[in-house]
Amino acid sequence: MGSHGSHLEREPELDLILQETGFSKANLNRLHHRFRYLDKNNKGFLSRTDLHNIKELEMNPLGDRIINSFFPDGGECVDFRGFVWVLAHFRPSQEEDPTVQDPQKPEPLNSRNNKLRFAFQLYDLDCDGKISMKEMLQVLRLMVGVEVTEEQLEVIAARTVQEADEDGDGSVSFVEFTKSLEKMNIEHQMSIRILK
Ligand code: CA
Repeated sequence: MGSHGSHLEREPELDLILQETGFSKANLNRLHHRFRYLDKNNKGFLSRTDLHNIKELEMNPLGDRIINSFFPDGGECVDFRGFVWVLAHFRPSQEEDPTVQDPQKPEPLNSRNNKLRFAFQLYDLDCDGKISMKEMLQVLRLMVGVEVTEEQLEVIAARTVQEADEDGDGSVSFVEFTKSLEKMNIEHQMSIRILK
C-alpha cells in the first residue's frame, strides 16, 4: 500500500488547484477520494448523473442549478479541478483572517463577494446580470412547499423584487442583490459541510 504516493499527488495541476481553491492538501485529499467514489466507471471525470449522487446536493432545493454550475459551458463532464473549483465557493470562510489576505492574490472563491456572485447566477438563468420577476418566481417555486399557491408565489416574488429593486427597473441587479442580503450571514448559509 503506497500511502505516500496518493492519487491526489498524481493530479497534473495540483499546485494550481491548491492555489485557486484555498483547500488544504488534507481537504483536497478527501475530496479526491469523494471524486473517485462518485466517478462510477473510472472515467476520470464526473457526469451530471454522478453529481446527483451527492446527498447534500440532492437535498438542496437548488441542487439542480448548483449541479449546472459544474458545467459552465453546457458540457457533460467535469474533471477534478472543475469539481473542486465549484465546491470552493462553499468552503467555510470564517476560519481565515482576512487581514492576512495577500493583495497580489485574487480574491478567494469563498469570499463573501464570490459566494454572493455564485448565488446570484443560480437565480439569473439568462445571465443578463439581473434577476427578473420571472426568474425570482422560478427560484421561489423550487424553494417553497406545495402548500403555497401559484398566486401567492407571484405576490411573494413581486414583493421580493420590489423590495430589492432600488433603481425601479423591475429586476434585481447584483448590487441590489448584495444590498438586500447585507444583513444575512451568507458565509454561513453558503457553507456546505461537504468535507467530512
Ligand atoms: Ca436575468
